Amino acid sequence: MPELPEVETVRRSLESRVLGCTVSGVIVRRRDVIATPDDPPGGFGRQRRLTRAPKRVEKADLLLGDTIEGVLRHGKQLALAGNSERAVLIHLGMTGEVMAPGPGARLRAADHLHVLWTLRRGDGASAGRMVFRDPRRFGGIWTLPDRGALDRRWAELGPDGLAVTGQQLRERAGGSARAIKASLLDQRVVAGVGNIYADEGLFRAGIHPEARAGDLTSQEWDRVARELRTLLCEAVELRGSTLRDYRDAGGFAGDAARLHRVYGRGGEACVSCGNSLASGTVAQRTTVWCPLCQPERYPGSVD
Ligand SMILES: [Zn+2]
Repeated sequence: MPELPEVETVRRSLESRVLGCTVSGVIVRRRDVIATPDDPPGGFGRQRRLTRAPKRVEKADLLLGDTIEGVLRHGKQLALAGNSERAVLIHLGMTGEVMAPGPGARLRAADHLHVLWTLRRGDGASAGRMVFRDPRRFGGIWTLPDRGALDRRWAELGPDGLAVTGQQLRERAGGSARAIKASLLDQRVVAGVGNIYADEGLFRAGIHPEARAGDLTSQEWDRVARELRTLLCEAVELRGSTLRDYRDAGGFAGDAARLHRVYGRGGEACVSCGNSLASGTVAQRTTVWCPLCQPERYPGSVD
């Protein structure tokens, strides 16, 4: 599942390809990947039984006729902002991708291409197509009438992982009895962190993933925030992870997997102390940590 660095990699790559382009055509192949403000919460694709038929999506709501003025990101969510003030929010979910392969690129009709935008440059020349594909359809597209609606949605999330501070983490999670790893995965605490970067951040900060969030000291929150920011920044520079063949908007894979010191390495030697890395389930997710570098904590053992 793409986390912040992978989504930021897609954002940068899309920005270089679609910013300033005008949308001259929109094709919707699957209505149920789109949620409009009139749809049930989450959209029709997430309803087990349809009690009413979805209305057609107005193509203007998907930016037909708009010039793309912004390619934005908060946490793991992307948004395209048009000059009409409308915006389209894109959630990649597990397998979602947004690609803009440029003019002349061959797109295979059978390739789970759910929405296609035709783009033109300012001089009228073709800029090819932008496509949203999502084989497993855990992702989706939300049409928003204005930038205020986008701001309100993103205000429901925590601060972006690239800029989060220890104080923000403590304010949002410090009163909780749940495991620190569960707090870091909660997008309302910090936006953009998923399973990989939660494990890597906690390893770098020397904090056990099952430590109770409420037991962390201010200094420890500062350390977790600092390690997360550094790690996410390094991963963005390496253009995201190659896991699950993750690709940016031009189809290029990233190289951030070489930052992984614990993720996917259960049973291997810790790069820091040489001890065997432990693995187990924390916050319903496979979790890897070093029992020596990230010691378990017992009530009253907080330093
Ligand atoms: Zn270790």
